Amino acid sequence: THFGFQNVPENMKEALVKQVFASVATNYDIMNDVMSGGVHRLWKDHFIRTLAPTPGTKLLDVAGGTGDIAMRFLDYCKETHGDNSAQVTVFDINPNMLQVGQERFAKTPYHNTSQVSFMEGNAENLEHIPDNSMDAYTIAFGIRNCTHVDRVLKEAHRVLKPGGRFMCLEFSKVENPVIAKAYDVFSFDVIPTMGQLIANDRDSYQYLVESIRKFPPQKEFAKMIKDAGFTVMGQGYEDLTFGVAAIHSGFKL
Ligand code: SAM
Repeated sequence: THFGFQNVPENMKEALVKQVFASVATNYDIMNDVMSGGVHRLWKDHFIRTLAPTPGTKLLDVAGGTGDIAMRFLDYCKETHGDNSAQVTVFDINPNMLQVGQERFAKTPYHNTSQVSFMEGNAENLEHIPDNSMDAYTIAFGIRNCTHVDRVLKEAHRVLKPGGRFMCLEFSKVENPVIAKAYDVFSFDVIPTMGQLIANDRDSYQYLVESIRKFPPQKEFAKMIKDAGFTVMGQGYEDLTFGVAAIHSGFKL
């Protein structure tokens, strides 16, 4: 049995997504490593290097979960520029994920500094975040869980300062047919089975796989970003690992 997410009415998606991440929160970090063979770490490192934040950057990391992107961002600022004035807000709909993130940061020098803060809320409505207030907006492996992607993009555009950058890291579509076939087997058979064995939670991992399949392909998503008012460079995205994941990016000009 699984959630049968393909048939879930739109108004129930948010509740189900909450339930999925509440149940995976404690195992989330280890499962990421197991399922991607650690590759998600390389993707995230590359994502932050591509953002290349300058000293004092104010970042909003939406669907920030347990703080992987936020931690890399602050580490990058410190290691590259010796900067400790950069700031990140980890924003997520799920208090369980934020809690795991807070516990993680409590063990770092960023704890109890103004460099990191946590905020609970829906990416579709960033009501407590003022217009034109952020230098950068990131969302990693989160946007496909949102019900109205167009609203998420509109809100991202609203909170960014002119010149600010939107960046999204998300699972995407593999175009090479041979690799696509292997990837299908991996995602439809191997991932739910690993979810069962390691986290005793087949349903949540089945959902994660289905949500990847339903998300629009690279070019279509790039068009949605442009439609939200962003200016993109070139085709607007970069494929990672044959398109298993992609980085989309746009500027608010
Ligand atoms: N960005 C982190 C990372 O890369 O490790 C976490 C990614 S995790 C796969 C997806 C996160 O999106 C979860 O923490 C979930 O609670 C959050 N999420 C799902 N729907 C959301 C929404 N509508 N608004 C904000 N966060 C959401």
